[in-house]
Amino acid sequence: MRTADVVVIGAGQAGLSAAYHLQRRGFVPAGTGLRGGSGPDGLPAGTYIVLDAEAGPGGAWRHRWKSLLMATVNGISDLPGRPQPAVDPAEASSSFLTRYFGGYEHDLGLAIERPVKVRSVRREDRHPDGRLNITTSRGQWSARAVINATGTWTRPFWPIYPGQASFRGRQLHVADYVSAEEFRGRHVIVVGGGISAVGLLDEISLVTSTTWFTRREPVWRDAAFDRQAGHDAVALVEQRVRQGLPPQSVVSATGLIWTPDLRAAAARGVLDRHPMFTAIEPDGVRMADGSFLAAGVILWATGFRAELEHLAPLHLRGPGGGIAMDGTRVAAEPRVHLVGYGPSSSTIGANRAGRSAVAGIVTLLAGSR
Ligand SMILES: Cc1cc2nc3c(=O)[nH]c(=O)nc-3n(C[C@H](O)[C@H](O)[C@H](O)COP(=O)(O)OP(=O)(O)OC[C@H]3O[C@@H](n4cnc5c(N)ncnc54)[C@H](O)[C@@H]3O)c2cc1C
Repeated sequence: MRTADVVVIGAGQAGLSAAYHLQRRGFVPAGTGLRGGSGPDGLPAGTYIVLDAEAGPGGAWRHRWKSLLMATVNGISDLPGRPQPAVDPAEASSSFLTRYFGGYEHDLGLAIERPVKVRSVRREDRHPDGRLNITTSRGQWSARAVINATGTWTRPFWPIYPGQASFRGRQLHVADYVSAEEFRGRHVIVVGGGISAVGLLDEISLVTSTTWFTRREPVWRDAAFDRQAGHDAVALVEQRVRQGLPPQSVVSATGLIWTPDLRAAAARGVLDRHPMFTAIEPDGVRMADGSFLAAGVILWATGFRAELEHLAPLHLRGPGGGIAMDGTRVAAEPRVHLVGYGPSSSTIGANRAGRSAVAGIVTLLAGSR
């Protein structure tokens, strides 16, 4: 059993932000025999470790499709304390961001162990100030607090439709998307109303024919997405998680934003949306109006859920189906913070959440000394 005051789970944008702020507050890598610099009360700050399941830096960006370029991502906030180097807009976001994250970890000397998959987090005893036990693919840790930064990429959401298993074509989730070329010559159905859906419709429609299905009429935004609109969208998601409801994606609160490429796709008729099909058949789908549409591929751009499986032994979920939050802190378990979750599931949100989680934990640890 190894010990740390704080264990951070995940080293994407949110986990790195937490590690940066821990280090700034005087926390040192666990297992070095050091006790850390001075905390705000003059006492030693403590130790930390980041455990990440990936084989290398980059978090989910390691896995994003190659055609998601720095020019086509939505805007990536800098990691705290270190601006991004000059970027070639034509470079794949996966390679640029993996390099940026790797340089950041190295230059700041962040304490990250990988690949280490956290399998469970449980309370060591019933004492509210007691320690948490973290079981991983490489042994156990005992910690006073946990910052969970495990993102969503590993939990693609697949809705269930009648006849789904009978489909003879290919079904895939955007998490498995590689390139439009794979679909050449086949009719592709894209399901989902988010940014990934419209971006991939644009891309795939340049190679083959497509049809778009969504549950609800998509909400398009004409105005440029300004600060106030961003703030309002985040506030909506924040309100949900405070009430213990499952978070909706920030995009579902912001709506879709027109870009020149999407306007061109709309002019080609690619963004004519259809209401959801009623069933999947071996060679296509049954449309809402009863007609049949033949297809060779169904691409589910239906989003992701938070990866929180390993926190199940803590029983954090309430009757609303979500985890009631107070900022980044789990309302019913102050030793656990969720960053990159709900309202902080964007790169800018992840940065802020890392800072705020560390501030909360510093106060908690000072109070329980
Ligand atoms: C296709 C796509 C495009 C996006 N584009 C943008 C964009 O342009 N701008 C933007 O702001 N946001 C974007 N987002 C949202 C984006 O996901 C977040 O902004 C940010 O990348 C998430 O960072 P994170 O640290 O929360 O999660 P991740 O980057 O997913 O990192 C989580 C880390 O935790 C690890 N992990 C998971 N489970 C465990 C476990 N049990 N044990 C140990 N480690 C574990 C993972 O391996 C990973 O390294 C996009 C999302 C998607 C799906």
